[in-house]
Amino acid sequence: MGVLVVGGGITGLVAARALARDGVAVALVEAGQRLGGKVATERVDGFTIEHGPDSFLATRPAAVTLARELGLVDQLIGTRDPRAVYIRHRGELVPMPEGLGLVLPTKVVPFARTRLFSWPEKARMARDVVWPRMLDGQDVAVGAYLRRRLGDPLVDRLAGPLVGGVYGTPIDELSLDAVVPQLRTAERDHRSLLFAGLAEGRAMRRAMAARAAAHSGGPKPLGVFVSLRGGMDRLTDALAASAAASGAELRTGLAVRSLARDGAGAGARFADGSAARFDVVVLAAPAPVAAALLGDGLPAASRALAAIPHGTSILVTLAYSRAAVGRRLVGHGYLVPPSEGGPIAACTWTSEKWPDRTPDDAVLCRVFVRDEGAWTALPDEALVAAARADVERTLAITGEPRLVRVSRHEGSMPRYTVGHLGRVAAIEAAIAPWPAVVLTGASYRGVGLPDCVTQGLAAAEAVRRRLEPAGARVGDEAIARA
Ligand SMILES: Cc1cc2nc3c(=O)[nH]c(=O)nc-3n(C[C@H](O)[C@H](O)[C@H](O)COP(=O)(O)OP(=O)(O)OC[C@H]3O[C@@H](n4cnc5c(N)ncnc54)[C@H](O)[C@@H]3O)c2cc1C
Repeated sequence: MGVLVVGGGITGLVAARALARDGVAVALVEAGQRLGGKVATERVDGFTIEHGPDSFLATRPAAVTLARELGLVDQLIGTRDPRAVYIRHRGELVPMPEGLGLVLPTKVVPFARTRLFSWPEKARMARDVVWPRMLDGQDVAVGAYLRRRLGDPLVDRLAGPLVGGVYGTPIDELSLDAVVPQLRTAERDHRSLLFAGLAEGRAMRRAMAARAAAHSGGPKPLGVFVSLRGGMDRLTDALAASAAASGAELRTGLAVRSLARDGAGAGARFADGSAARFDVVVLAAPAPVAAALLGDGLPAASRALAAIPHGTSILVTLAYSRAAVGRRLVGHGYLVPPSEGGPIAACTWTSEKWPDRTPDDAVLCRVFVRDEGAWTALPDEALVAAARADVERTLAITGEPRLVRVSRHEGSMPRYTVGHLGRVAAIEAAIAPWPAVVLTGASYRGVGLPDCVTQGLAAAEAVRRRLEPAGARVGDEAIARA
């Protein structure tokens, strides 16, 4: 009896810790040999290598708040200056125009001056200011919408690599409502997206000036992206330690194989052949795993879960001697639009982006492979050769890498395609008949770490409500709402 949390990624750990701190009997099982899920850090020969996320957004405060609760606030670090990012365009690295919001320019001059677009292409974008509103109540692909308002070049060279890259999904498939609902608000409030971007820029600059005035004389604010000194697993390690200290039982190397209805609760079978009954099961593993586990107990929910597509994310990490890199690396790295071809979608210069991750005489590159079968299906050796050839050509690198790593996350990266929120609503409806199951994690309401923290806390809250005596229950929710 008690609560079972399936999956020891950040979402499951947050849920388990919150429940244990409330005095609920909770056991967490993780199929892998370590806790943290996609958050995984390796330290070797003076390098700190992230096999998953390397940072999180400070503008969504849940992860920063968690770090503070865990006593890690003085371990938070910001990115190094200059924060320039480049777009590879016709083989050349062109700086991204300064003052770019998520996809919209917040300043006119840098955008007017950029070499990324020709004058006719800039004139096509500017026609946005005369277009009427274009969105109705339906969800739409971010790419299709931006193509209509601002033209193909902006989508192909800027918005696609930026937003599609973050979400691991081509921008022409990404759901506007699930990923950038602020575009809907922008059009509603300003009609023109360019006007909305400029208004956002003015508001941002005012807020930054106010923050700077408030902090004058104090330490410099960390910026939009933050990480942890020593690596991202400092966060999940501290989280796991806090959960265990609060009474949660944490087990690694044990997968849940099946779930079955058992009265008002759920019976779980484990890979080692054991079985146990729980009042509530929190499924904090990716949706395809949840779909498989619910196949017998709740086939309709299982089908609805299987409708959320998941892709593959592969990182190739390469370290070189600094002397072998012909190009001077200024900034944080570059994005590669699909039209450029080749195996890589982006390359971050970790050594330049973060302090203390690399020996002084080395450069560390974190290379994101395109999620296309032609590349993800390659064995490690061929993939590394293709990634190396591409990066070495772009950065004028000669000589062999000092270190190579390949990090694969196969079929476990949720793709928020058009209609995603409708699919989540359908899952909620399908799972309602079995209140002993709570779903949470990156597959549903946000892939970033702050959203995962929020969803883990919401899952714990949903469990608490289910454990209350029936008469005391307020409205329950099938998927823990962020
Ligand atoms: C390469 C990469 C870079 C990223 N970069 C960023 C970034 O910079 N910033 C950011 O905010 N986010 C980033 N993300 C996204 C973020 O890391 C993830 O969305 C988040 O870590 C997901 O956490 P989770 O707990 O929901 O799932 P997961 O971390 O996937 O955890 C789920 C766990 O469930 C376990 N499991 C599966 N099946 C079973 C079973 N049957 N029984 C028991 N356990 C099971 C798995 O082994 C896994 O450990 C990145 C992701 C990747 C892959």
